[in-house]
Amino acid sequence: MEALQEHTIPFTGLKDGEHVFDFDLGQAFFQAAHEEEFEGGEVKATVRMDKSATMLVVNMHLEGFVTVRCDHCNAPMEQRIKGDQRQIFQMHGDGSADDDELVTLDERAHSINLTHYFFECLRLSLPARHVHPEGGCDPEVDAALGRLANEHEPVPDPRWDVLQQLKTKRP
Ligand SMILES: [Zn+2]
Repeated sequence: MEALQEHTIPFTGLKDGEHVFDFDLGQAFFQAAHEEEFEGGEVKATVRMDKSATMLVVNMHLEGFVTVRCDHCNAPMEQRIKGDQRQIFQMHGDGSADDDELVTLDERAHSINLTHYFFECLRLSLPARHVHPEGGCDPEVDAALGRLANEHEPVPDPRWDVLQQLKTKRP
């Protein structure tokens, strides 16, 4: 996804210790994501960055809602979302070592950008199944799905009929 300029934190001028940043993730963020999964949303991101001589420990807390498609009726729905993620940036590296939580920054780096990490955090906190609350689904789709379910009512297993006949034949 595109890195948004507003999520860039220049760290070279910052003192060692904790720094707090707040971000509002809105339409610009969800457009930059280019992901069909999220159609929009409003999320507040609080970033606590602990800076030391060798690393930046970034704790992100995201809270708000995202617009996603309902798994049941496929209409848009607002899913409340809340997530925490920690990312460690090691300074003075060669920029090569990357694992899930630890990123090595090139020694010339003077800022970090968090757009990608915000997105990752949201994706990880989205429940695997998201549906409208009871009665909130698109009524037309709901009715159509109901009809479909009835048409596919399981046919009774013919073996049961045979058993039933055997039983009734017995004196
Ligand atoms: Zn629905």
